[in-house]
Amino acid sequence: MKCLDCDYEEEVEADILLECFEMTNDDFPSCICVNCNGDNLVPKDVYDQIKGNFIYKLKK
Ligand SMILES: [Zn+2]
Repeated sequence: MKCLDCDYEEEVEADILLECFEMTNDDFPSCICVNCNGDNLVPKDVYDQIKGNFIYKLKK
């Protein structure tokens, strides 16, 4: 998970991620960022898509 606001990065367990997913109506789960208290903590692949950082996809 990575924060869209402050670039804070955090490892989140799958069951917690699922909980976040159920709580939001968006296309992707977003959690509260413990660093800046915003609710823009999203999965890293979503972060990369939003930020337009497609370089990561080449690694797969
Ligand atoms: Zn943050």
